[in-house]
Parts: sequence; structure tokens; C-alpha cells
Amino acid sequence: MRASYGDELVRRIIILGGGIAGLSAAWQLARSNSGEIVLIERESLLCTHASGRNAAIFRPLEAEASLAMLARRSLALFGELSPERPLVEPRGLLLLARAPETLAPIAQTAGAQGTPHEIETPERVTMRLSGLNVSGWHGLYAASGGVIDIHALSEILGRASRALGVGIRCGGRARGVKTNDARVVGIEMADGELVAADDVVVAAGAWSGEVGESAGFALPLTPVRRHLALLECQRALPASAPAVWSLDDEVYFRREGQRVLTSPCDETLWRAGAPQAEVQCLEPLARKLGGIDAALGRAEVVRYWACLRTYAPDRRPVIGSDPRVEGLHWLAGLGGFGMTSGVAAGELLAQSLSGRPPPSELAVQRLLTRP
Ligand SMILES: Cc1cc2nc3c(=O)[nH]c(=O)nc-3n(C[C@H](O)[C@H](O)[C@H](O)COP(=O)(O)OP(=O)(O)OC[C@H]3O[C@@H](n4cnc5c(N)ncnc54)[C@H](O)[C@@H]3O)c2cc1C
Repeated sequence: MRASYGDELVRRIIILGGGIAGLSAAWQLARSNSGEIVLIERESLLCTHASGRNAAIFRPLEAEASLAMLARRSLALFGELSPERPLVEPRGLLLLARAPETLAPIAQTAGAQGTPHEIETPERVTMRLSGLNVSGWHGLYAASGGVIDIHALSEILGRASRALGVGIRCGGRARGVKTNDARVVGIEMADGELVAADDVVVAAGAWSGEVGESAGFALPLTPVRRHLALLECQRALPASAPAVWSLDDEVYFRREGQRVLTSPCDETLWRAGAPQAEVQCLEPLARKLGGIDAALGRAEVVRYWACLRTYAPDRRPVIGSDPRVEGLHWLAGLGGFGMTSGVAAGELLAQSLSGRPPPSELAVQRLLTRP
């Protein structure tokens, strides 16, 4: 089934979800002239869920090579999206561990991927975090890490997509994907409207698993809740402070204006939705931060909230066509790295729709083959 414009038949692609995944898919598909593209978002605003409520850290340092590759490519695409004003404030990213061996696999991947990085001694780490009272931590530093302007990113992606003709419909929930004879024929909206399409891209974040299941093509995509908190510290972090991520007792923090944005890196299985935040998250947060710098552990909590990260079992993104049904595609499982990697993941998705499959470690197929 194809949408018809005069005599011309144009392939219609519907993208379900208007977070970073859906917007990146829309922009990349429109850039590659893939057809008529319609993005459907059930909230009245784009990026209402994970893509608007995250820590916004650009993390180029990963042990997993595919994630490091996506981060590197995203940075280049950020430059194309916003050539005048960088979308990442390059404050740097510093990973911490008591034992240098913990950092070694990440440094190895960075080396293999050509991501500039520095292995830092405890003395160097203490100097780099001069506003804090830290000692005994080994570090791995990447100057290209930093803080993404996530609001500018979503706005620019939306604007660029619309300029290329993408139709963006907010405030309408898709109830399910319609198939006929192992082929996608469109979607059904919650109000019963049927929208015909040749292809559907599931980019529905925490809801992606449900959307696939309703069409009869489930994938193991699991949402997990994580908290973030904003702290008021006695002494503000210095302007030069990088985003800091401790790998031992997982916790991260970064400057947010005069305050500190931080997460205890908690992880609780959750159903798709807007998760409730729980005050119990604050005790482990204070303990973990106090293990790095005692004063940071005592900082006053201004506000805290929670949101969902969604993972495939191997914690790699799920990108490309579903071999079980023609016309069904996925851009999901962006976990805790979607702001860093989403735009590049969207590029792989667009390439997949034009017949160039993604690397096998990211493809849908890997989740269908039983061990
Ligand atoms: C606490 C926290 C901190 C994080 N920190 C970072 C970080 O520092 N750096 C980083 O790179 N990443 C970070 N992430 C990860 C990042 O936020 C996510 O990977 C990313 O936002 C996922 O984007 P998405 O588009 O897949 O999902 P979402 O942003 O959730 O978008 C999915 C959209 O689909 C819509 N939708 C769902 N079902 C339907 C339907 N049936 N019909 C229509 N629309 C539908 C939803 O309303 C939603 O808007 C963090 C995540 C969390 C939770």
C-alpha cells in the first residue's frame, strides 16, 4: 500500500515516538529522501519522557565498541545540525576507579576507535578536580565529553525534519501496528483512525516492547527506572570541572549552573510510563557521593525525579528491519546512552531502510536467535 500524490506513488513511513530516537530517525530518513515521513507522538510536546529528563552527558568513553562508534559519529552529526553553535559544551568527561584495571577496557576501546583520551594518575585526577577533596582515584579523561544542550538538540532536529517535509503529529497515541500477510499496512490510532503506511519505525522508548507485542512481534526490551537529583553545594564546582562518573560504586555528577546534577545510578525494573520518584534514592546517592568527596555527600537536595531507560538484554541498541514482518523497523533500546548516540543510530536506521543493514551486533536479528 502506498500513499498517492497525483500520479506518483510515494513510500509512506510512520515513526512512532517523538523522543531523540524518533526525531533522529525522521531527520535521517528525510535527508535520505526515503519517502513521505510522518512522526506520531502521543504527548502534546516532543521529548516529554526520557529525552527531556536525562542527565545530558555526552559520553564518548565506553567499553562497548558499537557505543563508542555511535558517540563519535553523533558528535560529527551534531556539527552538521548546528554548525554555528556547538550542541555539546566540551567540559570533558572523567571516569573514575580505584583500580586502573577497571578503566583499561574502556581505554582500549577508545584507542581502537580513535577517541582521544588520557589515562590519569591519582595525582592528576586530584588536580583536575581541584574544587573537590578527592584522593586515590585513577582516571580516564576525554576532552570531547561534556554536556549536551538537549533542548536545543530536540528543537533543531524537529525544525530540520519539518523543513525537509516531515509531518509531525503530537497528541495522538498509536494503539498498534496493523499487518496483513506478514506485511505492515499501517497503524491504528487510539481513537480508531487507521493510517496507511508501507513502513513503521518503532521508536517509542519505554513503550517500544508493548508496541511490538501488540502487533504480534515482541522483542525483549525492558524499561528500568533511574533517579536524578539536583544539589545545592556549599561550594560550587569550578567552571572547569568535567562531568565525573565513578565506575566503582556507580554514581555520576556534573555542574548545572551553580548547582550539581547527579544520579545514584539506581536501576529498578519498571513498567512503561512516567515513573514515580522515591525519596529512598537519596540515601545511596549521599553515600556514594560522600565516598568521592565528603562535602558533596552532605549537599542539600533541591529536587529529584525519575525516568526510564530501556534496554535489550545485551544492552546494545536495536536498529533496523524486523525479519519477521516486512515493513517493521526498530530504533529502540537506547538505554542510558540515547542522547549521546541517538542521532547516529537514526542514521543507521535510515541506511537500513535503503537496503544497507546495520552492523550485526546492533541488528534486530540478534534478539531473535535463541542461544
Ligand atoms: C535518568 C536518566 C538519565 C540519563 N542520562 C543520559 C545521559 O546523561 N546521556 C545520554 O546519552 N543518555 C542519557 N539517558 C538516556 C536517554 O535519555 C535515552 O536513551 C533516550 O532519551 C531514549 O530516547 P527514546 O526516543 O528512545 O525514548 P523517549 O524519549 O522516551 O521517547 C519515546 C517517545 O515515544 C512516545 N510514545 C510511546 N508510545 C507511543 C505510542 N503508542 N504512540 C505515539 N507515541 C508513543 C512517548 O510519548 C515518548 O515521547 C538517560 C536516561 C535516564 C532515564
